Amino acid sequence: MTDARTPKRLFIETYGCQMNVYDSERMRDVLQPLGYAVTEKPDDADLVILNTCHIREKATEKVYSEIGRLRAHKERRAAEGKGMTITIAGCVAQAEGEEIMRRAPAVDLVVGPQAYHKLPELIARAARKTGERLAADFTAQEKFDALPVRAPDGVTAFLSIQEGCDKFCTFCVVPYTRGAEFSRPLADVLAEARSLADKGVREITLLGQNVNAYHGGASFTELLNELAAIPGIERIRYMTSHPIEMTDELIALHGSEPKLMPYLHLPVQSGSDRILKAMNRKHDGAFYRDIISRLRAIRPDIALSTDIIVGFPGETEKEFEATMQLVRDVTFASAFSFKYASRPGTPAAAMVGQVSEKAKTERLHQLQALLFAQQSAFNAAQVGRTLPVLVTGDGRKPGQKHGRSPYLQSVHFTDTTAQNGDIVDVRITASTQNSISGERAVLALA
Ligand code: SAM
Ligand code: SF4
Repeated sequence: MTDARTPKRLFIETYGCQMNVYDSERMRDVLQPLGYAVTEKPDDADLVILNTCHIREKATEKVYSEIGRLRAHKERRAAEGKGMTITIAGCVAQAEGEEIMRRAPAVDLVVGPQAYHKLPELIARAARKTGERLAADFTAQEKFDALPVRAPDGVTAFLSIQEGCDKFCTFCVVPYTRGAEFSRPLADVLAEARSLADKGVREITLLGQNVNAYHGGASFTELLNELAAIPGIERIRYMTSHPIEMTDELIALHGSEPKLMPYLHLPVQSGSDRILKAMNRKHDGAFYRDIISRLRAIRPDIALSTDIIVGFPGETEKEFEATMQLVRDVTFASAFSFKYASRPGTPAAAMVGQVSEKAKTERLHQLQALLFAQQSAFNAAQVGRTLPVLVTGDGRKPGQKHGRSPYLQSVHFTDTTAQNGDIVDVRITASTQNSISGERAVLALA
């Protein structure tokens, strides 16, 4: 076994969404005081965490095959007198719980998303092979209370304010795996934001499955106003939003609060009203278009992003065309698009008219060709403009810096003097599908 004085090595493999990226960072933070330092190699880790995602097809199978690979490392280490604790976290852990422990005896611990703050204790218990091995039923409140304030890595940070979902879209597992909607109390969110600002963070992205459904003692708009008043916080973003939670106040704030960045990720999922109804999205195409036109009326330059699913059960060519038309009409700066994947246990999995893999693939290619063209066009439209760029680090080439535009674009620009956290004017001279580049704008002397 590892000597208590030797630094212990932690390997975390993260699958899936931004929430999981955030959760992995929190797990790393919570384990740091126990002497765990992150390693890039699973084979020399004392503790391995697979932070799993249940969204994608075959996600569970992938986890089991990864466990198989880890078991070989574990056995080799055991022969050398060293231990390896294998932990499964995230949504697959939540959904499969006992089944994982039964099917994969190499796994020491299964921990659901609400119990990460108990990790140190659970890991100690697992190492001693005593006590409960499952800990998936703690309340979200406890989790938020017990986690230490996270050390930011740079000038941008995620801040989780809301978890779970009560919307029950028929294709989605989140309401089952992440549980009921829970908002973190306002005072806690503000305290963490102040602490992040003190540590040099300039841009925060509020995270939640339905972030704009926030109700932690204040409305989401009230929370944004409070955050905007914190000195040092210069930029605020949020994701993921649900269209039915886009209140008049929230839309209006996009026109009046300069710290709220002109960027919005607002999943639409489909352009067909019949499909939206079958998805139980609670909005139709006209409702979505109306939000967009009101946002553009008060913030004409706002960059829009979305999530779209093609091949939902029963989707006809005509209904897919309605999605294409919505995309042409709205025009997005970026987007995530998916082939519908049947998730056992969700209502859509049992629907008649499952679309063939071939048709889904063709529709996805067609949709992505349009979305990528729109993304390239949005980036190209910045050429010739001067944008305020938040400096996040050194660029790829010597004499270059890297940063983030208000529209969440990655920006490379020529400069040597700007410091991380500065917001500097950059004249954009070139663009690609995924980024823009330019040079630091020099102020003309009068
Ligand atoms: N709460 C957010 C929302 O309402 O859009 C995001 C939730 S989900 C983690 C992120 C995206 O994954 C969804 O917006 C949806 O487009 C996609 N997704 C979820 N379940 C899916 C499924 N069964 N098949 C394909 N895509 C799916
Ligand atoms: Fe899933 Fe729908 Fe909830 Fe988003 S709103 S997490 S897609 S159920």
